[in-house]
Amino acid sequence: MTVVPLVFSALVIGVVELGKGRGLGRVATSTLLYTLVASTLSVFIGVILVNLVRPGDGFPLSQSSIDAQVAGVMKNAAESKPFAIALVELVPKNPIEAATKALSGEMLSLMVFALFFGAALSVVARRREGTNPLLAVLEQIFDASMTIVGWAMKLAPIGVFSIVFGTLFKNGSGILASLAMYVGVVVVGLLIQQFVVYALMLKYVGKRSPWAFFRACRDVYLCAFSTASSNATLPLSLETAELKLKLPPRISRFVLTIGATANQNGTALFEGVTVLFLAQVYSIELSLGQQIQVVLMSIIAGIGTAGVPGGSLPLIMILLQSVGIPAEGIGLILGADRLLDMCRTTLNVSGDLVIAALVSQGNADPLPVGSGSSHLASDAGGVV
Ligand code: ASP
Repeated sequence: MTVVPLVFSALVIGVVELGKGRGLGRVATSTLLYTLVASTLSVFIGVILVNLVRPGDGFPLSQSSIDAQVAGVMKNAAESKPFAIALVELVPKNPIEAATKALSGEMLSLMVFALFFGAALSVVARRREGTNPLLAVLEQIFDASMTIVGWAMKLAPIGVFSIVFGTLFKNGSGILASLAMYVGVVVVGLLIQQFVVYALMLKYVGKRSPWAFFRACRDVYLCAFSTASSNATLPLSLETAELKLKLPPRISRFVLTIGATANQNGTALFEGVTVLFLAQVYSIELSLGQQIQVVLMSIIAGIGTAGVPGGSLPLIMILLQSVGIPAEGIGLILGADRLLDMCRTTLNVSGDLVIAALVSQGNADPLPVGSGSSHLASDAGGVV
């Protein structure tokens, strides 16, 4: 019910946020570039690990549960198109039709439309002075959609209990070992991104000692871990960037406020792993093309994910549907989600600080006065 309004508003707002930095020229371009590179690496690490370990293979889902899904999967397979046609159809002829198709899981063309619309809206917003009423409406649409999701999540404890109880009853307790392996894959992936990818980026691009950097960010990590919210951690990240990491405020404010919304490496990794894990659970073989689609959509979904606890869950359901995996499969992992949310949020916030450091290194010259503080004022209390 909330898929279309939620995805559309979240992506448009995310892209407009990214576009706000146009006045900052090089800073904005390098922020965008590092965000894409870091997200892509992070999703790849997750996808490689989950393919190597295959935690979902040991998930003893009963044959009848699998059979029940086969009909749906066959239907999806019958509908799958050749790669070239799928590529052309990424740009929808009719956005309303794309929105209708999104309801049955074909999400990508609506996402592409939202990306274009967001880019255009940020151009329009720059041309006109004052507030942008359409953006305000979209923010309210996003808020209202998240409120509906919040209502549904009130039922989550009962729903998760029922799904996990039903699955354990039908399939035996062996699923716990599988779930533990799945959690392990996500956590190891996050650690590799933090201590290998970020460390290398800091050392070779940022020209800083990674360990000193990580030590200076300890409080931020703790705050992100305990709140599971990038937005709630933003004030502390801003303070740490300025006072402890000594990053130029105008750059760090810009990168960090945008990053809280648009740079979510931990979430992107978690989304990729979860989709592939559930494909393994339901014995659905995803082709290379479909795995690439998962990678792409996880990167885009990272941009549209709200920096709040559980912000990525609605988007995961959309990702699942789009590759023909039963969306209710999410119930199987919800029991472990809070812990994973705390871990992935820590990486999300850490990634923002790393990118702020890299961008500062490449743009050491002074920026125009006032180019960062306005974003801080308008975004710190924003919805996304
Ligand atoms: N809790 C995450 C954050 O605030 C978003 C998510 O992955 O659910 O960054």
